[in-house]
Amino acid sequence: MTAKMLDGKALAQKVKDEVRAAVAGMQDKPGLAVLMVGEDPGSKVYVAGKVKDAQEVGFHSFHHHLVADTPQERLMALVQQLAADPRVQGILVQLPLPRHLDGEAALLAIPPEKDVDGLHPANLGRLASGRACLPSCTPAGCMELIRLSGAAVSGKHAVVVGRSNMVGKPMAHMLLDANATVTVCHSHTPDLGAVCRQADILVAAVGRPRLITGAMVKPGAVVVDVGMNRLPDGKLCGDVDQASVAQVAGFLTPVPGGVGPMTRAMLMKNTLQAARNQGLR
Ligand code: NAP
Repeated sequence: MTAKMLDGKALAQKVKDEVRAAVAGMQDKPGLAVLMVGEDPGSKVYVAGKVKDAQEVGFHSFHHHLVADTPQERLMALVQQLAADPRVQGILVQLPLPRHLDGEAALLAIPPEKDVDGLHPANLGRLASGRACLPSCTPAGCMELIRLSGAAVSGKHAVVVGRSNMVGKPMAHMLLDANATVTVCHSHTPDLGAVCRQADILVAAVGRPRLITGAMVKPGAVVVDVGMNRLPDGKLCGDVDQASVAQVAGFLTPVPGGVGPMTRAMLMKNTLQAARNQGLR
């Protein structure tokens, strides 16, 4: 079997086109503030992409770039200022922050209704308890890619490898909400391969290059590769060994061009939702 590749780039464009069309019909344009601290090269690329997307869909885009040695008080003051700014409906603090900063404190200072990354405990808790929320962007993007495959989710066995608050845990809740039977694996899971081979839907969010091989995949499974690992030669590589898994899986997301673009697109969708929730029409 040769897996069908799930094109995240094309799907992300479709999502952004829908957001742009909705924004074009609004009287007041949503505002998205993206805040980064320091000079992390990866973060700079991600932030530039998010600012570009925001402009393309017609949002007011506010970009704040603080120097690497910014004190915590300055970061908190800026988040609080954005929290109170009526022109801003969405706030994103780009991670990772420099080590001297308390990212958790910054995240908690974002009002949950402006938490367009969906990482505030209020939004994660609402998701976990089946309530309406701003969903975390990466797992929300994974769900869209799974839907794109056309494969059923209800009644299927989904295995999520990784249990971070940003990806693994919210992913498990979204699959559960879609009536999958969900198993979550982590670094203490014995015989990972045996668990993964039971998966009709397999999501790898680990941060270990090519951990998931073809021998760990059930024939015909939908495999979503969240991993974004930088190899010593500078190339980007997922958590899935694409060459061997493509021989076994039914559907597979590429890296790059799979989950990454969808994460950005879901940020736009969340910002539109946040703006509507805050009364913009
Ligand atoms: P993380 O916070 O480091 O979590 C990694 C998870 O993987 C942990 O739960 C860990 O288990 C588990 N794990 C580590 N080694 C394992 C092993 N050998 N077997 C089974 N489980 C193992 O990472 P994250 O933030 O979730 O990110 C995961 C990957 O996704 C990274 O490559 C990251 O760059 C990528 N990512 C991509 C996007 C995107 O937009 N494409 C967005 C976010 C993240 P323990 O809990 O037991 O330690």
